[in-house]
Amino acid sequence: TATQERRGFEAEVSRLLHLMVHSVYSDREIFLRELVSNASDACDKLRYEAITAPDLLSNGTELAIAITADPKAGTLTIADTGIGMDREDLIANLGTIARSGTAAFLDRLSGDKSKDLSLIGQFGVGFYSSFMVADKVRVISRKAGTEQAYQWESDGEGSYIIDEAEKAGHGTEIILHLKDDAKDFLERPWLERTLRKYSDHIAVPISLKVCGTEKDGETDKAETVNSGSALWTRPKSELSDDDYTEFYRHVAHSPDEPALVIHTKAEGVISYSALLFVPGQRPLDLFDPSRKPRVKLYVKRVFITDDTEELLPGYLRFLKGVVDSEDLALNISREMLQNNPVVARIRKAVTNKVLSEIEKRANKDKDAYEKIWEAFGPVLKEGLYEDAGRRDTLLKLSRFKSTHGDAWVSLADYVGRMKDNQKAIYYVTGTDAEAVKRSPQLEGFRARDVEVLLLSDPVDDFWLSAISEFDGKPFKSVTRGGSDLKDLSNSDSNTSDEAKSEDDTEDMVALSALLKGILGDQVADVRSSDRLTETAACLVADDNGLDMHLERILRQHNQ
Ligand code: ADP
Ligand code: MG
Repeated sequence: TATQERRGFEAEVSRLLHLMVHSVYSDREIFLRELVSNASDACDKLRYEAITAPDLLSNGTELAIAITADPKAGTLTIADTGIGMDREDLIANLGTIARSGTAAFLDRLSGDKSKDLSLIGQFGVGFYSSFMVADKVRVISRKAGTEQAYQWESDGEGSYIIDEAEKAGHGTEIILHLKDDAKDFLERPWLERTLRKYSDHIAVPISLKVCGTEKDGETDKAETVNSGSALWTRPKSELSDDDYTEFYRHVAHSPDEPALVIHTKAEGVISYSALLFVPGQRPLDLFDPSRKPRVKLYVKRVFITDDTEELLPGYLRFLKGVVDSEDLALNISREMLQNNPVVARIRKAVTNKVLSEIEKRANKDKDAYEKIWEAFGPVLKEGLYEDAGRRDTLLKLSRFKSTHGDAWVSLADYVGRMKDNQKAIYYVTGTDAEAVKRSPQLEGFRARDVEVLLLSDPVDDFWLSAISEFDGKPFKSVTRGGSDLKDLSNSDSNTSDEAKSEDDTEDMVALSALLKGILGDQVADVRSSDRLTETAACLVADDNGLDMHLERILRQHNQ
């Protein structure tokens, strides 16, 4: 027809789809979780829009999700009465990949199928996962507030067809024509079990109908399969680890297990509930320059936005989950969230709660905490220079590698092991953990058994320039000039040190004068040093100047 148009998928989508279509991924049942999750998001969005435009919901339609299996036709349909999509939305959402982290996901695809499939397990693939079980997918959608419906159809091989369609009422219907080897997904017991497992936390009612079968003596009967209440409003005692995990997967769009669950309710000066998760693995977009936290804000159970920087500080952007406020007005606009005093109070309370829960985990379960630190430490450390008020808490949470074995070290561990006459906490920074470990600057410290922190995250130079001490001990770079190594000598090595300083006065003076003459302006000074035991010479920074690594970073940025 004249309205019909065939369009090619974006190259990235094609790559992803190719993987889906030819997938032998064993967990392909996750397609149902992805589609129900999208249907639920669509209902959330419409509920929000309807606050300011009540007409959108005035025709009496309830927000709901309906699943229909038709074994005769071989189709499974997931329908919702949510926000819906118009032609442009269909093209933008189901023909391109807008999701953050997707580019990183695709970059990691190797072309080796088994490796790539295991990556799918780590990365939620969303709508496109339908092509793991269907050889044809038809989406019929009508955007709330519009009259014309559209359909999108594809076999997942390179292109899709978009056309006008008929549909009563707003919302979206996704019709999966199941592959021959996926017909089991039409069986009632499997559907009931899976929907209960994946979708119990979904806050809109989900009904299931299996055509041609009997339920409670009635043919074609639809039954409700979820409890339909927002999970975070339910008491902790009623919730299992599985409930939390499934909810995490829904809000985080991620298939892993959470490393830490923080479920809290505050009543009093401010009233809110929060259900937040520290992910089990590092999300692919963790270092996205926007640094935006993606926690969802609800007001009295109504989803408002997941696009606000106000709710949490940037250094907690790895958290996923929900904050639901009783104190904000339902019709609050996203702009009004900025500089809002209620939001600021929630942010303060939630941030404190999160840090104290993380600290509890650190004290209770060292191994579990170190996993969290390994994944998110570099982000948490941003708080050291951004959040002066919580600096002490964050310093306590920080863990480091050091010259003292391979284990993670806390600053308290370090200070506890300091030499009797050691006054500073020594560190060396660099961009590569292995190179840092081999730095010649460490030789003298190693020889004297003085521990040095090995810092190789880009953020380290920044917080070190903002924080001068821990527990009364200054931080000191080993690349700084006149090192204090002499004072740190073990008593039994004193004599050899003195012998060395004697050379200093004779040959060394001549040698440094000679070298200074040759190097000219390129160096500020040439000095003998106690810091080396094997290497003949190394570069150090001036005592009052910048740390060498920081200087290099600043030079790269033309500062
Ligand atoms: P994600 O849910 O992580 O954004 P998906 O691949 O699951 O990624 O979905 C892509 C986009 O398609 C969604 O962000 C949404 O805009 C749109 N979409 C998918 N399913 C629906 C639906 N049932 N109703 C409305 N929009 C939908
Ligand atoms: Mg999705």
